[in-house]
Order: sequence, then C-alpha cells, then structure tokens
Amino acid sequence: MQFSGFRVIKEALTGHKGWKPLWRNPDPQPSYDYIIVGGGGHGLATAWNLARTFGAKRIAVLEKGWLGSGNIGRNTTIIRSNYMLPGNEPFYELSMKLWERMEQDLNFNAMVSQRGILNLAHTDAQRDAFRRRGNAMRFAGADSELLDQDGVRAMYPWLNFDNARFPIKGGLLQRRGGTARHDGVAWGYARAADRLGVDIIQNCEVTGFRIENGRLRGVETSRGFIGAGKVGVAVAGSSGRVMAKAGLRLPIESHVLQAFVSEGLKPVVDGVITFGAGHFYVSQSDKGGLVFGGDIDGYNSYAQRGNLPVIEDVIEGGMALMPAIGRARLLRAWGGIMDMSMDGSPIIDRTPIEGLYLNAGWCYGGFKATPASGLCFAHLLATDRPHETARFLRLDRFARGLVIDEKGMGAQPNLH
Ligand SMILES: Cc1cc2nc3c(=O)[nH]c(=O)nc-3n(C[C@H](O)[C@H](O)[C@H](O)COP(=O)(O)OP(=O)(O)OC[C@H]3O[C@@H](n4cnc5c(N)ncnc54)[C@H](O)[C@@H]3O)c2cc1C
Repeated sequence: MQFSGFRVIKEALTGHKGWKPLWRNPDPQPSYDYIIVGGGGHGLATAWNLARTFGAKRIAVLEKGWLGSGNIGRNTTIIRSNYMLPGNEPFYELSMKLWERMEQDLNFNAMVSQRGILNLAHTDAQRDAFRRRGNAMRFAGADSELLDQDGVRAMYPWLNFDNARFPIKGGLLQRRGGTARHDGVAWGYARAADRLGVDIIQNCEVTGFRIENGRLRGVETSRGFIGAGKVGVAVAGSSGRVMAKAGLRLPIESHVLQAFVSEGLKPVVDGVITFGAGHFYVSQSDKGGLVFGGDIDGYNSYAQRGNLPVIEDVIEGGMALMPAIGRARLLRAWGGIMDMSMDGSPIIDRTPIEGLYLNAGWCYGGFKATPASGLCFAHLLATDRPHETARFLRLDRFARGLVIDEKGMGAQPNLH
C-alpha cells in the first residue's frame, strides 16, 4: 500500500477499513544470504539499503524483543551534523542529506523537522572553538552560523542571559538540524524493508554464532539455528555482550543514558538548544512536552534505567539555562543502554571472522547517524569495501593510534 494524502482521505471516508499492518510477521527460513542482528534503527536501515540500494535478496532482521524496543525508541530525537573531525563530519553530513529525503524514500511520515539546533557558548574560548567547528562543517558542505549574544536573544529571549552564573556569549546554529519522530523512523524503515521482501523476525534472540575454520556459517537463536552467508551485528548497547559470543572483545563500554519529558506546555522552545556550561539539551515535542537529557550514568551497566545523581545533574543544568523549567512537572524519565566507544566515534567494519561484520560504538550520536549508518553498513556487507564516508570508522583504529576523538578526552568512554 502506497501512503499519500489521497489514501488518508479515502480511508477517512470509508471507515478506515483498508489500512494494513506495516510489516509481516514471518517465521524464520532455514537460511538467508544476509542476517542483520538487531531490529533498531541501524539494523532496519541496513536491511532496507541492502535490498533497495544493492538489490540483495534473502535478508532477515533478527530482533530479540519487539521492534523499536531499544535505543531507537528511547532517544531524544535530535538530528544534526555539527561535528568537526574529518573522520566524522562528512559521514554525519551524508546522514543529514539522507534525512532530508528519507520520508520520500520510505513513503512514510517520520516527522523530520529541521527546526534548527543551537549550541550555546558561555566563554570566549568556547565561542572560538565553535567558530572553528562551524568552519570545519562548512568545509564538509554542512551549514553553520555563529551567533552573537543579540542573535541568540532574538531567537530565545527568555534564556537566562545577564543574571546567569554562566552568561551566554553566543552560539553555533545549524538550521538544518532538528528532530525526527524516533519510533516513526523504525516503523518507516521496517515497512519499507518488508515491502522489498526483508523478513523482520521479532522475539528471536541471537544466542551464539556457528563458526567453522574462521568462517561464519550462521547464528544460533532462541528459535533455532539459522544459516547465513553474511551476518551484520547492529545491537548498539548490547554490542559487547553479543560479540563476546563470537569470541571478540570490543573497545566499547555499555552505560545508561537517561532522558526526560515534562508535562505538555504551550510552545516555548521551537528548536533544539544545548547548554554549553554543562551537559543539558532540550527541545519540545509536538505534544508540548519539553524533551531533555544530559550525561550518561558514569558506570558500566546493561540496565535500561538510571540513577538519581545524574537526574540531579541534568536538572541543575536545565535550571541554570532556563530557570522557568523549575515550574514544569516531570511526566516521565527512562534510560537506554549506550555503546560508548573509547574515542566517542562509531565503528562500521569487518571483524577477524569471515562473514561477520560490526556496526557499533554510537555513543550519544546514533539516532542522527541512522540513515548513513544503514547505507554504509549495507555497502560494506554487499561489497566488502568500506563506504567512502565511513572509511575512518575502523575497528583497528585504536590499535593503530588513529582515533577519532571529537572531544579530545582520551580513552575515556564515559567522558565522550
Ligand atoms: C536516552 C537516550 C537519548 C538519546 N538521544 C539521542 C539523540 O537525541 N540523538 C542521537 O543522534 N542519538 C541519541 N541517542 C543514541 C541513539 O538512540 C542510539 O545511538 C541508536 O538508537 C543506536 O542504534 P539502534 O537504533 O540500532 O539501536 P537499538 O534501537 O538499541 O537497536 C539494537 C537492537 O538490538 C537488539 N538486540 C540486542 N541483543 C540482541 C540479540 N542477542 N539478538 C537479537 N537482537 C538483539 C535490541 O533489542 C535492540 O532492539 C540516545 C540514546 C538514548 C538511550
């Protein structure tokens, strides 16, 4: 079924009886050419790209829970391409360009909203660093604008400018950044992949890998063995745990990231704002809730819930930036498991096991990367060569000293 305005009107006039489920619910086949482990954004986007861009057939996505139960349905929905380093910026800008045409590509309303993202600067040094980052973005074909205090005031007059502990000196604005409806992205990719014949198999946990003489033969699952030509693992926060079943140890730690939404309010934040003197970012959902978050919980965990000290830290950041937030009531808080790499940048690469490929290390940034990650991982699976923009995202870069340390934090996954 093709979605369109005409279809909505037709269904409205005929009692909404024609809508169909967005994807089938097939049983697993004995074998596939390609198996993608993980039905999050990256796994689904990879499967869709394999079928659509590379014409591959016999593809399955295996998801241990329900589709969208991982970070794709838990993030704060921010999309942007405001990175600096050559290993990252062209990749994220490719992603931004793919976001701009995603809804047409998928024939699905993912509520992509380029409402702009503003990074606030609170010191002269920070403003200089933003100027440098903005220039690097422009070199990679992205948009960026450096705002002075008046420029920021014109956008958000209610911010705490003059009486603040951290006065606002200006900001780096990317107008093409914004938000997208996270679960809509999962549903859109799932539906589009299913239409191309991809089997999306939920409640099917990969419990092991069958490897013979260094070559992968297939995966052991909670629904039996499934043979495979190639297997791509895209399980985000579970990367370390899943790859350990193939005997691989990753340069990745798993941490919880929490997020929060307030009660519905009248429109107040029409873009995305990030605080520069602490870790706090905020946008407003179409239902009116302020959606915000901050730092990860600083210890390793596979729990999808966090602890109070980080909540206090996030709220302090919010109060410092926009004291009015103290009047809003919190509606919900939740957590997701983050795959934090040692340099804060992702990995899209082959592994030492023939036929086994890895997509991981997304840290805070995996949602915005979804379209490019899907394209680049599918490229690698289909051609055995890295995609041009993902050529730096190698697994061995830590051993070779070629890290992509955007923040300059060193090998500290909890600080990236
Ligand atoms: C609170 C929070 C806020 C965030 N905010 C942003 C943001 O604003 N912008 C941004 O760019 N990024 C953000 N992120 C990061 C982003 O959500 C993730 O990096 C990204 O979603 C990870 O990729 P994914 O969608 O494929 O992961 P997931 O949706 O987590 O997909 C992985 C899937 O693998 C499945 N799985 C695990 N083990 C197995 C197994 N053994 N067998 C089969 N399946 C398995 C899991 O069930 C899961 O569904 C945020 C993350 C969190 C938690």
